[in-house]
Amino acid sequence: MSNYGLSMVSIAGPSKHDCGYCKGKDTSISFGIWAHSMTCADYQDLIDRGWRRSGKYLYKPDLEKSCCPQYTIRLDATKFNMTKNQKKVLHKFNRYVIGNCKAELPAKKPANYVQVKSLQDSIHEPEEQEVNEHKLEIVLEPSSFTKEKFALYAKYQVSIHHDLEEDVSESGFTRFLVDSPLKTNNESDFGSFHQKYTVDGKLIALAVIDILPKCISSVYFMYDPDYSFLGLGKYSAFREICLVQEYNKKFSDLKYYYMGFYIHTCPKMNYKGKYSPSDLLDPVSYKWYPIENFKSKLDETSFVTFDPIERDYPPGWLDPKSLKEKELENVFVLIGDGRIAPIIHIVKFRTSKSFKKNILDYVCSVGLELAHKMIIC
Ligand SMILES: [Zn+2]
Repeated sequence: MSNYGLSMVSIAGPSKHDCGYCKGKDTSISFGIWAHSMTCADYQDLIDRGWRRSGKYLYKPDLEKSCCPQYTIRLDATKFNMTKNQKKVLHKFNRYVIGNCKAELPAKKPANYVQVKSLQDSIHEPEEQEVNEHKLEIVLEPSSFTKEKFALYAKYQVSIHHDLEEDVSESGFTRFLVDSPLKTNNESDFGSFHQKYTVDGKLIALAVIDILPKCISSVYFMYDPDYSFLGLGKYSAFREICLVQEYNKKFSDLKYYYMGFYIHTCPKMNYKGKYSPSDLLDPVSYKWYPIENFKSKLDETSFVTFDPIERDYPPGWLDPKSLKEKELENVFVLIGDGRIAPIIHIVKFRTSKSFKKNILDYVCSVGLELAHKMIIC
């Protein structure tokens, strides 16, 4: 099950990064932790508080202070409606796979014939054919390193993101897209996975996804630029939405697809808002609201909340001044030999102001419930 084990984390603290969207210098502000191990349930709770992961590094952007605020977006996959354009992408992909092998359709359709196909039917159309021009295989496996995956990643980063070839390394790929604090094995339904897309035996795309108790979360997607005519970025989203629908039959709580952060100010990321019905996470109250409610407000100002409160600390945090010592009694730290102790009994907590502040910031950013469950080490 997803719930076994404990989450063990180290506090990385606040950080400033260059913004990948508007290219601002040090304008992306976040608070981070390193997760050595993490239960899927705890990670689900964290992403529902605006966190995301990059390998084993977990971070929560400060939406108020950052130049291009990153809103958590989710789609209810069980109610997904494809737009006309999205249908076209899917149809084009299927036409490529099926090629000239398409079976003859009945010549005449009744006058009132309307073809209504579900996403599932459309996605699986090539499999219905006896022969296809291209052999498409899609395989889900626990995340792992292979030379073939790395070669695809390197080609994608250099060609699409204009990374310098010497900056793309096997160790970087592993840290970013193979390593995960979530425990996954072949028997487990939840954890961190790679979905491989091969055409005629060649790896043409790779999706990095987390399967969690309530959602499938997209971590990254890369494709061979030689196949960009297939619209693989969009196609992969349909595949992942389908995967949610399939998991939903087995796990009724699992019905959402998280596409990663929605950045209103970045046209490249705007496509995420075109999958319907989608909600955005309110950065203060952590309630979900339909994206339509946000959009008009986001045109005017970059930080939007429907639950404003007076505060002098980052949005969504607990008020550090309101934390009671009693509440910290259940925040535990690993002290060696596998033993744990309440953080307030650690000498450094009493003697070092900066250490104490770091702990309090951590507790306020993850919230009390998670702070009581996760072990600091
Ligand atoms: Zn920016």
